[in-house]
Amino acid sequence: MTNATTIIRCPNCGHKNRVPLAAAGHPRCGNCHNALPWIVDALDDTFAEVAEKADPPVIVDMWATWCGPCRMVSPVLERLAVERAGDVKLVKVDVDRAPRLSSRFGVQAVPTLMILHHGAVIARQAGAAPVDVLRRWFDDAMEKDARDEDRAARDSEQGHRS
Ligand SMILES: [Zn+2]
Repeated sequence: MTNATTIIRCPNCGHKNRVPLAAAGHPRCGNCHNALPWIVDALDDTFAEVAEKADPPVIVDMWATWCGPCRMVSPVLERLAVERAGDVKLVKVDVDRAPRLSSRFGVQAVPTLMILHHGAVIARQAGAAPVDVLRRWFDDAMEKDARDEDRAARDSEQGHRS
């Protein structure tokens, strides 16, 4: 269980909030109560708790300190995390410090971006892309995920009836 926290500045009112890396639900600003952009780091030993057990969908940014395109894509992802605050968690993984995650997800190049929901990878993209492309990538994955969850709910209802 990680009790680690990070400081996130509220984009709405500027209040600095101490936010846990892992928690149920989604953090809100202690001052104005708007949803906060949830941007945290994870490594091999914290990924399960920080990313896989998270309630909101998670954008995973597998990046490296020496990678130029990573430095371009990070602010783009942070912008998405602000725009979609409450609906997404952004988890950044430094691949050089997370060898188990790199091999588990077969990361061949950085940045590798993934969308995880309840531990399942629902979308994946290698390489940097502009904000409008990544916004559409995220929103399309969310729509597909919602359709899949509807179908799973219907299937289980039918299972109960038969
Ligand atoms: Zn606020």
